[in-house]
Amino acid sequence: KTAVSEAVTNAIIHGYEKGAGKIWIRTVVEDRSVYIEVRDKGIGIADVKQAMEPLFTTKPEEERSGMGFSFMEAFMDELSVESEPDKGTVVHMKKIIGR
Ligand code: ATP
Ligand code: MG
Repeated sequence: KTAVSEAVTNAIIHGYEKGAGKIWIRTVVEDRSVYIEVRDKGIGIADVKQAMEPLFTTKPEEERSGMGFSFMEAFMDELSVESEPDKGTVVHMKKIIGR
């Protein structure tokens, strides 16, 4: 819940910069894993590696702490981010359930 919330919040605040926009969420349950994808067609991220560093934020003036991706990584078993400027962003997450 926390990881998905962080990804969706990012799509709204950064991807669409609070304007209107669609967010797609896809989930698959396979064996003992749940796969979740959160996608936007917003502004995208130029440097994904840098964006994923703890405490990195492009909106420090809005009391963003730059911890969203770190929380997603902490709560999920796998996290990967695909993004392209002006095209959008997809966050892929995997969580192993029912160990
Ligand atoms: P916090 O999540 O702690 O409130 P934050 O959103 O800035 O702060 P992260 O969630 O870790 O921190 O994201 C880091 C940076 O990655 C953001 O500041 C933003 O520049 C960029 N970013 C993240 N998601 C998106 C997105 N969907 N579209 C465009 N940029 C994004
Ligand atoms: Mg965030």
